[in-house]
Amino acid sequence: METTADYGLTIETTQGRGAWETPRLGHGFFGRTGGASRGRFFSLNLSRHVGDDPETVAINWQRVRAVMPPFVRIATLNQVHGVDVHVIGDDYDGARPSGDGMVTATPGIALAIFTADCVPMLMVDAEAKVAGAFHAGWRGTLAGIAGIGLRRMTEAGADLRRIEVLLGPSIGRCCYEVDAELGRRFTAAWPRAASRVAPGRGSKAMLDLRGVLTDQLKDAGLSPESIAQVGPCTRCASELFFSRRAAGGQTCGLQLSFIGFIDGAAG
Ligand SMILES: [Zn+2]
Repeated sequence: METTADYGLTIETTQGRGAWETPRLGHGFFGRTGGASRGRFFSLNLSRHVGDDPETVAINWQRVRAVMPPFVRIATLNQVHGVDVHVIGDDYDGARPSGDGMVTATPGIALAIFTADCVPMLMVDAEAKVAGAFHAGWRGTLAGIAGIGLRRMTEAGADLRRIEVLLGPSIGRCCYEVDAELGRRFTAAWPRAASRVAPGRGSKAMLDLRGVLTDQLKDAGLSPESIAQVGPCTRCASELFFSRRAAGGQTCGLQLSFIGFIDGAAG
């Protein structure tokens, strides 16, 4: 984990892994520290849509932009726990389309995903310079957003043999208690998920979302070496990351994950 600037912002990245070290590729997973928000938004909440004070959120964005690579535009979504993936190109107008994934082959655009326990999933083909960012909670994972994301990447010019994926800070099997019935739905839809669902207390099960996503990515043709997990369980590390479960299921702040290629002109 890197600590940046005076405010104590943290960015999880992957270092020493081929594609992620590509010049002009920017990516990272911000934590919750270093912001100005209070209460359940303490402190680096970057969502304007969870009830936080807009002026404080603006201050948080200034701090984030100060330590991000110099992207010209940052694209965000109205995330709805679905599997719609938008292609973000030169004509991006700053709107927040409804959906849970974005891909781009346009330098200068950062694709940004908000989470607080769900899995932020970043993809890159460093040679084709195609990037993708996805939001994978249980609904999106069950509906197959990992494989859909890979397809959208290849449609945008990426080669499946070169795509690398990072699964960012998100709730772990240690803490992600769900109804056993949901665990059964996972194993019915994705047989390999059986090893990712553990018995819990009573009628509950413990679900390993990043594990299910990893298996789905492998089933779709990625090699295990192309997939990495970055960062801890958000609920276990809730002093460093927003975690809805740690907040007792209430709406809380949201942290930002991003990926994109820096425009040549942007330095
Ligand atoms: Zn945990």
